[in-house]
Formats: sequence, structure tokens, C-alpha cells
Amino acid sequence: MSARVNLLGLPRAELEAFVASLGSKPYRARQLMHWLYKRGVGEFEAMTDLARDFRARLAEAAEVRAPEIVTVQKSADDTCKWLLRADASQAFEMVYIPETDRGTLCISSQVGCALDCAFCSTAQQGFNRNLSTAEIVGQVWLANRELGFAPGDPRIITNVVLMGMGEPLANFRNVMPALQVFLDDFGFDLSRRRVTLSTSGLVPQIYRLAEHSNVALAVSLHAPDDALRSRLVPINRLHPIAELLEACWHYIDERNGRSVTFEYVMLEGVNDAPAQARALARLLAGHPAKVNLIPFNPFPGTEFRRSPEPVVWAFRDVLLKAGVMATVRRTRGDDIDAACGQLVGRVQDRTVVRLGSKRIPVQVNP
Ligand code: SAH
Repeated sequence: MSARVNLLGLPRAELEAFVASLGSKPYRARQLMHWLYKRGVGEFEAMTDLARDFRARLAEAAEVRAPEIVTVQKSADDTCKWLLRADASQAFEMVYIPETDRGTLCISSQVGCALDCAFCSTAQQGFNRNLSTAEIVGQVWLANRELGFAPGDPRIITNVVLMGMGEPLANFRNVMPALQVFLDDFGFDLSRRRVTLSTSGLVPQIYRLAEHSNVALAVSLHAPDDALRSRLVPINRLHPIAELLEACWHYIDERNGRSVTFEYVMLEGVNDAPAQARALARLLAGHPAKVNLIPFNPFPGTEFRRSPEPVVWAFRDVLLKAGVMATVRRTRGDDIDAACGQLVGRVQDRTVVRLGSKRIPVQVNP
């Protein structure tokens, strides 16, 4: 373990304090951030407008270390997936999804996940550990480098979504500073509408999020009633739909955007009937909500099947007719298991820490 401070883990205020602890002025932190985030440079000796002795002190006390790449895979549709090392036997994944008008990086917040959602392959491996702030920020930093971003170029990564492995609100402590770096003018300078945090519904943390950040919120709803949702998304047993929706409307009330996106994975014969669409519409009509229907992405051993396309469209049409905005998410990267819910960070045999689904399985860091 290195004793050096990884600068990718420090939002601006902390970087200023760190720079001050090295006996330098706070504006040096902004210069450093310019090298890190505007130019993608992590080597101190290349930061030529910093005094030589300051660079030497940085080299002793600090480092810029992004996660190490284990493998890279490219899909036929140009989606790209990186397997990144967490430690000797654990890994996590990030996915880049290029589109004509934008480029989205889907990043992970934890190695594995403890939420145990029935239809998600990440859940099957259990929870291993939280990613550090540096590992979360480091994914965006690394992807920019990997994708060949050069200073002055148009952005390659226009959107960041916390929709990879893990439950971001269960790693609140490390995710919040990362969001600051994403949004900071001196950081990646992304608009808050282009950074989306997706949660399975940790209600108390949604209230806390409203106090700390104003990024776009996506919520994995997946069912219109508590009986079904508790089966698909076990955290619902602790925080049922009514409480969850109240937290969502509160988040929007705090002026954190115009609407909440509700993700709804389409599982054949489970949650895709027209009556379920009508029930979903009753929950959401009249509220600042959008529904994003996600065709289920299968993985080995799953009991679920993807709803046929016409069923997905019919479901969407019921929502639209009821006045609820709804779209269907295009599946990307499924030929390399990079699609939603297919991320597993597979390396070797792993020691799984599985918290089980009998008790409500989530541990949240403060
Ligand atoms: N834990 C967070 C972040 C993961 S986001 C959350 O639950 O929101 C990943 C999105 O993909 C979530 O909406 C998740 O429910 C969905 N998903 C999981 N497994 C899937 C699968 N096999 N097919 C399609 N979508 C899936």
C-alpha cells in the first residue's frame, strides 16, 4: 500500500488543504486540477508551470493513480468495457457508450453489490467492498486517457452515469466527493443534468443526497406494487414504494432538476402486463417523472426472460396515453456482457462476502 495521497480522491477544498499542508498557496490546487482534469496529465514532472521544488514535494507526498486495467473489450456497436483491478482477485467494470450526440461513461461505485436484486448479475456475486473516491473519479480520468482525449478537443465523455456495479448511495461517503469533482468547473466541469446517480431506493440516503448534491436522479423501480417489488428489489421490504416516491418528489422539490427517471426492467410475464403499466401510470401521473423501460439483459443461471419487443412498446404506450413520459432504453454492448445488469467484474474465483437476502442486506457508510 502506498502512503502517498492519491490526488484523484480529493475534491477542490481538500486538494487546497493538502497543497497548503505542503506549504504552497491554495491557487496551486487549481493549477493542479487544470493539469489533472483539463489536460489529463498525471505526471508531476510534466506540470511545467509548477515550481520545481513544489513538484518535488508532490512527487514525495502524492500520486495520481487511476485503477489498473485488467482487460478491454470492444463491442460490435463500439461500446467499450474495461475490467479494472480492485485487488489481487477482485475487479470492477466501466463501460463507454458512444452515440452520435453524446458519449456516456457508466461507472461502478462498489465491487459487487449487497442489494440482491433478483434480475441483476452483479447481485449474484455478493458484496466485496466500496470503491474509494479516487477509484470512482479515476474511472472517468482513465477513460478519457484511454479514449484518446486531448486538451482542446470536444468532450469524449459528455455524460457520466453511476449505473455500473454497486449501489452508489450505499457508498455515500466516497461517492459524494467524486460527484463534486465531476461537476466542479476546475474538475470535469459536467453539467448536473449530465451526471446521473441511479439507486435501487435507499430512501434515507435520497434525502441526504438532496442536501449534498443536485445531480440527476434515477431510481430502479421495476414494479408497480410492493409485493412484486419486494421480490425483485429486496430493499423494498425496508423502504416501500410510497416512501420511495415521497423521497423522489422531495428531491425534485429541492430544485434538483425537473424530473426523476424511473428505471423499469422488462421481465417477461413478471412485470410487463398492461394492467401493471396502468398501475405504474397511476403511481406516477401528475408527478415529475419519466420512465425508462430497460429490456432485460440475460446472464447465465437467470430464471428471467426478456419481454418481447411488442410487449415493451405496448407497455410504453399505456404509460404515454396516461400522460407519463416513457422511453425504451436501447440495449448496447450486450455481445460483450456490457449491458445493464451484466457487469460482474469476473476475474478468478473470488471470496464472496454475501450478506444474504433474509435480513435486509445493506450496510451504508455515513
Ligand atoms: N444499484 C443502482 C445502480 C445500478 S444501475 C441501481 O439499482 O439503480 C443499473 C440499472 O440496470 C438498474 O436500474 C438495474 O436495476 C438495471 N439492471 C440490473 N440488472 C439488469 C438486467 N439483467 N437487465 C437490465 N437491466 C438491469
